[in-house]
Amino acid sequence: MPSDHILIVEDEIKLAELLRDYLESAGYQTRMMHTGYGVVNAVRQNPPSLILLDLMLPGVDGTEICREIRSFTSIPIIMVTARVDEVDRVVGLEIGADDYVCKPFSPREVVARVHAVLRRGKHQAKDPSTIATGPITVNLDEHWARVNDEPLELTTSEFALLATLVRRPNRVFSRAELLDRVQGDHHEGYDRTIDTHIKNLRKKLRCVLGEQDIIVTVYSVGYKLQDSD
Ligand code: CA
Repeated sequence: MPSDHILIVEDEIKLAELLRDYLESAGYQTRMMHTGYGVVNAVRQNPPSLILLDLMLPGVDGTEICREIRSFTSIPIIMVTARVDEVDRVVGLEIGADDYVCKPFSPREVVARVHAVLRRGKHQAKDPSTIATGPITVNLDEHWARVNDEPLELTTSEFALLATLVRRPNRVFSRAELLDRVQGDHHEGYDRTIDTHIKNLRKKLRCVLGEQDIIVTVYSVGYKLQDSD
């Protein structure tokens, strides 16, 4: 896809240039960044088609960048890592990357992976940033949530919380996990902060759904979003 635009975030300049050369000869446009600083803002201001994101970066860590990007968009992210032990965490729901490549890698393999992830994205729903479970729909790019088509007025934390639950219905999240998703690594609150957000979220959902509680408390573990289908 000649018009697809890949953002390469990699602090090893030679490696970044190698990736750039291979991707450009495969017909992609590229942009490079060599530290973690400013990556999230750059993505916000000029969203690429896909991000190749190194895990270990000077400045802000790749996992933190990935998490932040995921809070507002579903642009595909391929993590590049030398830490095989990190792979599950990175690609799983905790961090939200779409795929990963382990160092050392062949640039050809990276190009193939970029191609596959972009193609997968194009075959998905018209708007992959919209996720729906039961009566709830959220849009990650446009940052709105609706319940039975009624718009919900949510705080940033409530939105992040609801988006996390909607993305994986019936999966139980611990308070610590949810806190992580809501506040990133810079925890200022305690696990019980989540209880307060959940309480407020339930109150807002009840205005539309009545007494039917779609967010379920799982005793001594945390919370899940109940999907009846
Ligand atoms: Ca690195």
